[in-house]
Amino acid sequence: MNIYLDNASTTKPCEPAVSAAFYCMVENYGNPSSLHKMGIEAEKVLNDTRRAIASAIACAPESVYFTSGATESNNAAILGAAEIYGRRKRKIVTTSIEHPSVAEPIKRLEELGYEVVRISPNRSGEIEYEDIISAVDDNTCLVSCMLVNNENGYILPIKRAFMAIKRNFPECITHCDAVQGFLKIPIRANEIYADLISISAHKIHGIKGVGALIMKKGIRIAPILRGGGQEKGVRSGTESVPLIAGFGAAVSALSPTLQQAIKNAEEINEYLRSRLSDIEGISINSKQDSCSPFIMNISVERIRSEIMLHHLESKGIFVSSGSACSKGAKSSVLKEFGLSDRLIDSAIRISISRETTWGDIDALISGIRDGQEKLLK
Ligand code: PMP
Repeated sequence: MNIYLDNASTTKPCEPAVSAAFYCMVENYGNPSSLHKMGIEAEKVLNDTRRAIASAIACAPESVYFTSGATESNNAAILGAAEIYGRRKRKIVTTSIEHPSVAEPIKRLEELGYEVVRISPNRSGEIEYEDIISAVDDNTCLVSCMLVNNENGYILPIKRAFMAIKRNFPECITHCDAVQGFLKIPIRANEIYADLISISAHKIHGIKGVGALIMKKGIRIAPILRGGGQEKGVRSGTESVPLIAGFGAAVSALSPTLQQAIKNAEEINEYLRSRLSDIEGISINSKQDSCSPFIMNISVERIRSEIMLHHLESKGIFVSSGSACSKGAKSSVLKEFGLSDRLIDSAIRISISRETTWGDIDALISGIRDGQEKLLK
């Protein structure tokens, strides 16, 4: 049986998501833009999912725009906001630990002449909200900061930073990549002072290929995809009704039990920490008090990440080496957090889900111990 501990890469779609998607493929397959009954039935799915997301994140349903995933949401938010708000204000503030789907569009804007300030973690591996606030000035059109880092689970002080920025510079647009936080830590859109929020279905037991951009009323972005004017012109292209139905079903299934899920994740995280601390040669790269309980980055000293990853795989245990998105390339994000090359070379990311059991952790621990015995010989 597989022991899947790579949930920050993607999660197993839950049964309600799969059934809802299936129904939309075999029965409710109309185009939501069609004026007839089948179109209206399909449009109802979109609006139901908008309402489910809105109630999970405390925003207006009309603020939810569907995209193909968080990579698109991030690109649309950053490139789209810069086009509208960055004509005269040419500065962008971000962090040095963003996911590539934020870092790359910002790099592109830098090539086009924007000034970019990237805030790095301090010596204790934390982003100081004062650093973000003081980097913003009258010339800043956009601030983009993630909520939870995907490589080590670190939770950024978004609320404190964005609150001060919106107070001092109300015209500066705030964007948050909340992919690893949505339905994993409590988030209320109106309390984090983000004008734009990106989320993705496949990280919360929905299906790959759908996400949302949550855009506050009154904010505008220039669309990247132009065409038929779907999603109020923010994102043209026929909406993927099955994937959106699955997204809504996953959100509705997960959100009522969020508090319980967090408590369980904290207990499993604590158990994992205590078991790991019994093993020699392990460094835990995620601090308990400042990281999401769903992600733990560790280094098994003197064993390269991929070697340990494949050893665990041979026992049916699946983890990631650093960030799965970087396909094993050395992580610049972990370097930013102050990890030595030695620790980065041996870093693995363990990311749990609501389905993870204590037995899974026991299997992982014995897999790591066994790996040390065999691979360190
Ligand atoms: N942002 C973060 C923090 C992520 O972890 C990911 C997924 N690895 C993305 C964005 C991209 O999401 P998607 O796969 O939906 O494009």
